[in-house]
Amino acid sequence: MRIVPARDGGLARLRLVGGEMSAQQARAVARAARECGSGVIEVTNRANLQLRGISDDAHAHLIQLAFDAGLGPAHVNGDDLRNLMLSPLASDTTRALAFCILDALQRDIALQALSPKFALQLDSGERLAMLDHPQDLWLSSLDDGARYAFGFAGSMPHRADDSPAAGVIDSADIVPFVVAVLHAFLRFALPEEKRMRDVLGRIGTTSFVEALAFSITLAPEWRRAPVDASLRLGAHDGYVGAQLPLGRIDAATLEALASLFDRIIVTPWQSVLIPSGSEDTLARLNALGLATDPHAPFARIIACAGSSGCIKSHADTKADAERLAALLPDNCEVHLTGCERSCAAARPVETTLLTVAPGRYDLYQHARLEARALTIEEAAARLARSHADA
Ligand code: SF4
Repeated sequence: MRIVPARDGGLARLRLVGGEMSAQQARAVARAARECGSGVIEVTNRANLQLRGISDDAHAHLIQLAFDAGLGPAHVNGDDLRNLMLSPLASDTTRALAFCILDALQRDIALQALSPKFALQLDSGERLAMLDHPQDLWLSSLDDGARYAFGFAGSMPHRADDSPAAGVIDSADIVPFVVAVLHAFLRFALPEEKRMRDVLGRIGTTSFVEALAFSITLAPEWRRAPVDASLRLGAHDGYVGAQLPLGRIDAATLEALASLFDRIIVTPWQSVLIPSGSEDTLARLNALGLATDPHAPFARIIACAGSSGCIKSHADTKADAERLAALLPDNCEVHLTGCERSCAAARPVETTLLTVAPGRYDLYQHARLEARALTIEEAAARLARSHADA
């Protein structure tokens, strides 16, 4: 498990398999956040958790709590090899496959040479899936899971002009196939090449696929079924979804969730899904301060850690985002970022506010600079005008 220094103390990353926690695990996370850190828990945009403000003398206690709750890696030094993102509504079969892949990767000591950023995605084709993250290897089921389309160095093709899948493979071969891809990457990669795009940019996808020695069918026309991110929120067949304001939840609220629900799934939108929620689940989530309506301000605003947690930021983006939420015009999506790295946004957001000084932001719309050094109130007024004119 990684605990890295940040402005507000240690930042501990807890990987969740498929974003899922049992109630008992959620209680353990809340306890760890309270006893070892500041009590702040964040959901990342790869559906993992971060605990903030970890004291220097609490690392061992935190790691013990995580392992006792079954949240640690299965094998020593295997944590970085658990960077597999699963669609939040993935079927039980796909979840089981994710466990098998992760187990095989963690057992393979040679794969520990991979960069911690080397990223995988497994998907079973639901309408709710995150397709914005570039992955080093992605796999998406077809024919009811009998086969999987796969591709490298990008996201699943879902638009007409997206790069096609690299091929299709039988599901029975998936685990050895993933292991073979990762070994092939390590064989081909030069010391400075950490991601699949680096290797494929040099040797080409065809040479890489040929080196895998697997029976692969080409599928140049394959496109993933369309997705609808708004399905992450509200009541749907078999689940209820709610947004965590600015991707954060405190220990007390997480404990309250754990007292109400047996399973909690966190998503790459920094939200939660409650599987098989009962009729009053929506009201219970709202009562805890979570947004279940896609039009709610906190469902349309994201912010990075900002100056309270990151030395690179000029402004407290989280606090400023809370003020902006109260002023945000309808139908407007905003991303507040402390620097150009844009940690909070895996995808382009219509409006970005980039800090230039405490409480001051440059405003970009569709990546074009529109105004400089605005206060939050000035930014809100400008957005209200531009959306009224639209
Ligand atoms: S976007 Fe920049 S300022 Fe914000 S958390 Fe990331 S590195 Fe820090």
